This record gives sequence, C-alpha cells and structure tokens, in this order.
Amino acid sequence: MKIYGYGRQSINQEDVDAVLEVLRSDFLTRGPKVHEFENAICEYTGARYCVVVSNGTMALHLSMVALEIGQNDEVITTPNTFAASANCISYVGGTVRFADVDSETANMDVGEVKKRVSVKTKAIVPVHFAGQSCDMESLREIALQRGLFIVEDASHAIGSDYRGTKIGSCKYSDMTVFSFHAVKTITTGEGGAITTNNERLYEKLLLLRSHGIAKSPDMDVKYGRWYCEMRELGFNYRMTDLQAALGISQLKRLEEFKKKRHRIVSMYHDLFSRDSRVAFLKEKDFSCACFHLCPALINFKELAIDKRKFVDHLFDAGLRLQVHYMPVHLHPYYRSLGFKEGDYPNAEIYYSQTISLPLYCDLSDNDIHYIVNTFLTALN
Ligand SMILES: *Cc1c(COP(=O)(O)O)cnc(C)c1O
Repeated sequence: MKIYGYGRQSINQEDVDAVLEVLRSDFLTRGPKVHEFENAICEYTGARYCVVVSNGTMALHLSMVALEIGQNDEVITTPNTFAASANCISYVGGTVRFADVDSETANMDVGEVKKRVSVKTKAIVPVHFAGQSCDMESLREIALQRGLFIVEDASHAIGSDYRGTKIGSCKYSDMTVFSFHAVKTITTGEGGAITTNNERLYEKLLLLRSHGIAKSPDMDVKYGRWYCEMRELGFNYRMTDLQAALGISQLKRLEEFKKKRHRIVSMYHDLFSRDSRVAFLKEKDFSCACFHLCPALINFKELAIDKRKFVDHLFDAGLRLQVHYMPVHLHPYYRSLGFKEGDYPNAEIYYSQTISLPLYCDLSDNDIHYIVNTFLTALN
C-alpha cells in the first residue's frame, strides 16, 4: 500500500549533485555556499539582507533577540500556528498574546490584533497560514501607529506574493522568517532564514548567529591575526554548506514547485466540488499563494461524523494526515500560563473542522484521484 503524508520533499539529481560537490570540497561549513544561498534568497525575495540559520525556530528566536524583546514586553501572534511562532516570544522572557483568526482564511484577524495591543506591546508575529499572506498593509498601519515591530513567520510562504511583492521582501515588516524543514516548500533538511532591509538588524543577526563573536581585517592589523572578540551573548545557529548547497538548488526549482502545488490545489477544489460537505479556505484578492498546505474543512459535528473514526479510516487506506493546527493556547504548556478553551473561538472551531490533504510536487493525478475517493468513501 502506498503511504501518503501531508507533505514531503522533492529531490532531483541536481539537488543530489549540489550536495555531493560540497561534500568533496574544502568546506563542509562556513564555506562559500552559505553566502551564495543568502544572496539567492535576497535576489528572489527582493530583500536587501538575508541570514540563513540552522532552522526556522532559531530564526524566530534570533529575530526576537535582535529586537531586544524581553521581560515586560508583549508580542502578538496567532493561535493557529506551529508552537514555535509563540515559543520564540517565551524564549526571550516576553509575554505571548494571541489574536484570533479570520474564519475564511485562518489568518490573524486584524480587528483582533487591534484589540490586543497594549502599552506593553512591542511586536506582532503574523503567520502566513498555508502560504496565504496576512493582510500586511493593515498590520503595518497598526504597527506604525503604535510603534511596533513586525516579524513575519513565513515558514509556509516562500514563493508566495502579496500585492505583487514577494513574501520576504520585508516591504511591510522589519524581518521575515522562513523554514526549510523537509515538509516545507523548499528544503535544506533542517534550515531557516531571516530577511531584512535594516542594516543594523542584519549586523546583529550575523553576530548572534555565531556566538556573538566578531572578527574583521581591522582587528588582524590592530591586534594580530588570531584575534576575535565576543561582544554579545550569541549562539551557534549556523547553517552548513551542505544544507546551503541544497537550498540553492531547491530555490532554483521554486517556480516549478509553485506551479505544481497550485495545480494540485485546483484539482482538489474541482474534485471535491461535487460534495458540499468538504470546504476550503478562501484566498484573498491581495494574495497569490504558493500553497504549503491544503486544508480540507469538514463540519464533523454538524454532519455527525466521528473525526477520530474518519481519520482512522484514512490511516488504514494509507493517508497518514495531520491537522494544522491544534491552537497553540490549548497545548498544556500554554494552558499552564492561564490560557483556556474558549479564549479564541474561531481558531478552536477551525481546528475542529480541519485536516490537511497531501500536498507535494511528486503527487500524480492518479494519487490525487485515489486520495479524493478515499476521503469521500470515509465520509460515508
Ligand atoms: C515549520 C514551522 C516553524 C518552525 O520551523 P523549523 O524549521 O521546523 O524550526 C515555525 N513556524 C511555522 C508556522 C512553521 O510551520
């Protein structure tokens, strides 16, 4: 039996060759590929600067450290995300505030964000859920009015556009974070990146990525060639050249990935259109998404379908699917901070109805027909 997850990497011969070339070269890490990947991301997104790191979670962490978020600061994010979008705020001692989602897009509702802004709010972390951009113009307006930073969590959204600009261009934000985990649209195995147009933030991110240690030709002359100095309490969040080489190769394939993903999503929409029990998120006019997820929405409660039995049925037919997401505030850790059921009703209703269909480039038309038929059988 063929097994389908909700996402998987697409690796071709060029990807393999790119990694092998590094493996046989002088540098496995801290070589030329890291810089080359960063430049390629700048070129693709239109951002001025890029810092690649070991994964998306560390990219989020560094963004919070670079903005000097700390105790007494509040940061607003969405409950409909992977825990890391909120955890990065907790890492630096900040207070997590959630803004409920819009039911049509499952993205952060701007009206809810407005309600959550206080004198202590320092930043907003919008998540471009499933690949669809949040309403960045409205978020930026709030940020400008209230003096807030914006860090876009674009872990789902490399390749997506917002009002004709690439996500990652930072036209509406201070920094944008990407993840290159194997289930994401392009992959380096594990990996992440931060883009920014702010030189001061860029310099800071570079320092923080590598222990806070600085080294420069000036120092060679002044103190000797061995000299380097630790200026801040940094980390080792570096990406290897092996990963960066894969990233460069994958980025070249992104437009092809975008087309394929778009086609698969359209097929699901068409094939499920004959059954009114299965619905999908709406895409706003300002968005041209490179979809990372294709959530199917089923009102299990109203239809009196047992979701657990439904998922068991799919599992037995080879569909090992996931739900994106259990709202972050309902995880035991966040409950222990005082959050509870009922706090963000739209995210909770969304959670009760969603299940992510398989969405990856190597799915064939036959696979998609099998998946849709299995789904419809499981519903009956
Ligand atoms: C995948 C993901 C992350 C974390 O990225 P990693 O590279 O796995 O650390 C953060 N936020 C969202 C929304 C994600 O989907």
